[in-house]
Amino acid sequence: MSEIDIAQKIFDEMREKTADPPGVTRKSFGDGENIAHGLVGDVARNLNLEIAHDYAGNQYMTLPGTDRDAPSIMIGSHMDSVPHGGNYDGAAGVIMGMAALHRLCGDGWTPAQDITVMAIRAEELVWFPTPYAGSRMAFGLLPSGDYDELKRSDTGRSLADHINDLGFDADALKAGKAYLDGAKIRCYIEPHIEQGPALFEAGLPVAIVTGIRGNLRYRFCRVDGTYSHAGAVPRAFRHDAVFAAVEFARVLEEHWNQRDADGVDFVCTMGEFHTNPTHHAMTKISGELSFTMDIRSLDNDVLLETDAYLREQAERISQERGVTIDLGDFTNAKPGIMDPDLRAILQDQVEKLDIPAMNLSSGAGHDCATFANEGVPTAMIFIRNDKGSHNADETMEIEDFAEATRLLVAFLKELG
Ligand SMILES: [Zn+2]
Repeated sequence: MSEIDIAQKIFDEMREKTADPPGVTRKSFGDGENIAHGLVGDVARNLNLEIAHDYAGNQYMTLPGTDRDAPSIMIGSHMDSVPHGGNYDGAAGVIMGMAALHRLCGDGWTPAQDITVMAIRAEELVWFPTPYAGSRMAFGLLPSGDYDELKRSDTGRSLADHINDLGFDADALKAGKAYLDGAKIRCYIEPHIEQGPALFEAGLPVAIVTGIRGNLRYRFCRVDGTYSHAGAVPRAFRHDAVFAAVEFARVLEEHWNQRDADGVDFVCTMGEFHTNPTHHAMTKISGELSFTMDIRSLDNDVLLETDAYLREQAERISQERGVTIDLGDFTNAKPGIMDPDLRAILQDQVEKLDIPAMNLSSGAGHDCATFANEGVPTAMIFIRNDKGSHNADETMEIEDFAEATRLLVAFLKELG
């Protein structure tokens, strides 16, 4: 069987065994995730790869290189899914890693250093509310209090309990023990389905990722004006929270237009935007409004400049309209920049192999960011996928997966 036939067989079996109509469910540290880990583990056993687990139950499948002490190449992604999610988000990356190792073994090719495929646990935030739990545990980066404090959303039981249930070692993790050391990893590459429509719209199978966007998140923005009568109050005496908020939203969108015109990576969303339902009414001028903002870019300076600009504009609108716009605090997740040398190798290979490809930034977060922040050179390959992700309808064609696998194999051989 070819490496693509084997991948197809795992996809089919995994879909069948973790089915939860209308999609699949693979909870972090749950049955579905274990089944997925088992299926890729079977391939590793058939290839006589070395198999290991860390304290958190992340699985490592290693093709030994000629120099066992040289920093290793890692390929990885996660095997959990959202509830009723799609079959490919995360899993496609691990399965592509196994397909690539299958191909390298078939070619009788021995790498200069170990190549390890890592099947990562607990990436989907819906189960444990902390980003990249699995990969951060591998590096000993999760704060020790989190193991008892973080509860799985469906069971209400702690992360420590779920780790111990599967026979792994929460005590070692609480003591801060790391399994991975960034200095011993030459590079990390994560293949993943694209979670937006860019490749589908462009008619291309594969993208080379430029970086993972960082974000500013504002959860508690408020506009305070004055409630008053919709008919009786002359315009000059109104302090309308809705019109002030709308002007602010317009400022934000104009700012985005300017970023686009300048060719700067930027997206923003006001996902919540509402008056107070216990006080608002059709015949009342609104006295208060709350909203959220999620602003993302590949450049953290752009994010921080945007914050300063928005606060200035909030102040201006507040004064002009006699309201108070308070943006409150934000959280700042730093962007994860992909390694330029690795990107150049990928670019070379798509040209050599004649694979139609484009460059894309990743709007969503990935375990890759954990490795990048630990100083490991990282890269990502996106595979075309219709209908987004985190839903049962995500669609990846096996032909596109095959093109991306061809690129991954060439990339690994080029690294030596
Ligand atoms: Zn994912």
